[in-house]
Parts: sequence; structure tokens; C-alpha cells
Amino acid sequence: MLTNAPKGTKDILPSQVYKWHYAENAFREACDRYVMKEIRTPVFEHTELFARGVGDTTDIVEKQMYTFEDYGKRSITLKPEGTSPVVRAFVEHKLYAEVQPSKFYYIIPCFRYEKPQSGRLREFHQMGIEIFGTDNMMADAEVIGFASDFLKSMGIDDLELRINSIGCPECRETYRNALRAFLADKYDALCETCKGRYDRNPMRILDCKSPECQTLVQGAPMMLDYLCDDCKIAFDDLKKNLDAMEIEYIVDPGIVRGLDYYTKTAFEFVSNKIGAQGTVCGGGRYDHLIEVIGGPPIPGVGFGLGIERLLMIMEASGCEIPEPAQLDVFIAVMGERAKLFGLSLMRELRNQGVKAEMDSLGRNIKGQFKYADRLAAKYTIVIGDNELDQSMVSIKNMKTSEQKQVSLGDILKEIIQ
Ligand code: ATP
Ligand code: MG
Repeated sequence: MLTNAPKGTKDILPSQVYKWHYAENAFREACDRYVMKEIRTPVFEHTELFARGVGDTTDIVEKQMYTFEDYGKRSITLKPEGTSPVVRAFVEHKLYAEVQPSKFYYIIPCFRYEKPQSGRLREFHQMGIEIFGTDNMMADAEVIGFASDFLKSMGIDDLELRINSIGCPECRETYRNALRAFLADKYDALCETCKGRYDRNPMRILDCKSPECQTLVQGAPMMLDYLCDDCKIAFDDLKKNLDAMEIEYIVDPGIVRGLDYYTKTAFEFVSNKIGAQGTVCGGGRYDHLIEVIGGPPIPGVGFGLGIERLLMIMEASGCEIPEPAQLDVFIAVMGERAKLFGLSLMRELRNQGVKAEMDSLGRNIKGQFKYADRLAAKYTIVIGDNELDQSMVSIKNMKTSEQKQVSLGDILKEIIQ
């Protein structure tokens, strides 16, 4: 127990962390080119934020949140998703007073109490972007285009992009009634959760993971057929923009998304390489979220991209992730005087940008060479009393075994070459 990480969590070990750095750095660089600014919000928020933002009939709020009372008797929740906290900060700091649109990105841990399985964890990580302040479908296309190009830049080019429109509160009401009418005689067979959703939010039933409910909703009316004129025009506009950007997509009227705040555009990037949990990126438009959370009526659009799933797909697709460069120099020393000199040389080398290391376990010289080998050092510098007396050290190229005498003053020059 003591030495097991909690169920549904994973350590990212030093031997693997370079893959995370690679993905995160690429994401940051892409955000930079898209003129998105990073925003960092707390790991926990008031529970109310998610109940309102994500929606209290969603799976997330109904049964997946890590919620607890703190010592001040406030209800606190570890963030299950990234958008609501960004909206909260946007409203709290009145960022809408700055030049619009606002473009944000984040890299965060998320927490959801789910049944752990491949690609589904209780602590997972998301990279996401949000654009607030424009209802132009150019922004939706920009967000989708970002995800598409970023995923391609990671070496993944066989994802399916599925898009849909889930309408606005006006046309969705008509649709909900149609859906209720369709489900009326199937009501008794719905799972208990979905019975509760029937009145409050029947669209959630389409997204229920229970196989029985999934069978019951087959043949149900689709939101796409109930879009109002405004939503229809927006969806056509989006498709035109994607076509102009030569981004391939399929229209999938079945996409509902697991969060209540979406309006109009909804999309997913799906892989067939990692099994059932193939959705690596999901997002859409949320024109009322900022208002619901207490801000002005400002529209938004964005996506969240799961880092664990991204790395799984990259692995399954054989994408190359360059391993970080090995150790440049190992400093092997014989004797106390050499050790002290080595210590100061190591510091100097490191300050000059050289990856340098010494033994700190008191290994003899043979042991130090072995250690240098295990660290895959490119060069080993050998320093003993003799060398110091003559103001020389020997540098060994570990690959060619070539050895050279160098004066103390020339070490840096030699290494940096
Ligand atoms: P799913 O349908 O797989 O449950 P979701 O609709 O709940 O996904 P979002 O809330 O849209 O997912 O989150 C965006 C992305 O975050 C997902 O596309 C996925 O890559 C990742 N993600 C979501 N939940 C998990 C999880 N429990 N473990 C790992 N990654 C996750
Ligand atoms: Mg989910």
C-alpha cells in the first residue's frame, strides 16, 4: 500500500520524462506561433465552479469529481477539466477589458474518479487552448486547425477528425423534446442515471456509457436535423473554413461531448491505434459559459488534448522522439587534490553549458571509468596529482578510446570543440 501509487495514477519516471518534455515543448512552441499566452490556474477550485460550468447532469459532476471539504468547511474540487478555471480567471481578473480576442493555453493535471483502464486514468494530463471573445467560425477553424497541425507535427497523420454541431439553447430545446418523445416508451429500460437525465438533460443519455442505454438510443433523432438558421449557417461556415484550410473531417452527428457548456461546434480527433479510448483531443464552442460563470456574454471556443493518449498513439505509430543528449564529460580523479580541482572544473564546465559529472561514492579509478561508461559519457577527463603538478590533464574520447594531453587552460576549448 505504502509503496503503491493510488489506483488510476502513474509515476512519470526519469527514463520516460523526455517524451513529456518533447510533447510539452512542441505544444508551447506551437502556442507561441498562434500567439496564445499560457495561463496557470490552481489545481483546485470551488466545487460550485464545475457544478455550474461543466453542468450538474454530466458524468463528470455526477460521479467523477474529487471533492472534499477543507478545514474552513469550503467544498473544494480538484480540477476535472481545464476550461472552467480559465473562464473563472478571465472573469475574476477582467481580462475581457484587454484587447480581444483573448487566446490562452494551459498544460495541467486533471482528476476524475473513473474506472482505470488503458488510456483512462484518475489523474491524467491535458494540454489545451481557448479563444475567448469571438463568435466567428474562423476561431473554431483556427482551434481545429491547431490541433490537426500539432498532431501532425508529432508524427501522427492518420487521425479521424469528427465534427458536429450541437446547436444553441434555443434549437436544442426543440431537439430535446423530440428526443424525449423518442425515448418515452423506452424510459423504463434506461439506467437509473439516465432516468434522472430524461427530464433535466436528455441529450446526456446519448453519451451514456452503459451498453443498454447505447442500444436504446439507436435511431434517435439527431441534433443536426434540428439546428436553427443561425446554427446551420455557422456549421456551414465552419465547414467552408476547414475546406479552405484543406483539413479533412467527417460529420458525425453522434458527437455530444461530455460537458454541458458546448454550443454549436463540437469535435474530436480519434485514433484507431489504442483501443476503446481512442479520442485524443476533444473540444468545441461554448458561447454561454463565461456568462454562466458570472462574466459578460462573451463567446469562447477551445480544445483539451490528453497527453497520456497522445504519447500512446505516438508509441503505437512508431513516432520518433529524440532522446536527450548523453553526458558530455565525466571527470575521473585520483587523490584528494585532484578531487578538489575536479569539483571546481565540473562547476566551471556546467556553467559553460557542458553536461558534466563526477563520482561521489568514492569509487577507485577503474570503478570511475565503469561508471563513466554506464553514464554514456562522450569524454572522460582524468586528473591525478601528477597531472596537476604538470598543469595537464588527459582527455579520453570514450567512443574512439583516443587519449590526449591537454593543458589545464585548454580543457574548456577542447571540450566545447
Ligand atoms: P472520453 O469520452 O474518453 O471519456 P471525454 O469526452 O471525457 O473523453 P474530455 O473531457 O473532452 O474527454 O477531455 C479531453 C481529452 O482528455 C480526451 O480527449 C482525452 O484525450 C483526455 N482524457 C479525458 N479523460 C481522460 C482520462 N480519464 N484519462 C486519460 N485521458 C483522459
Ligand atoms: Mg470522459
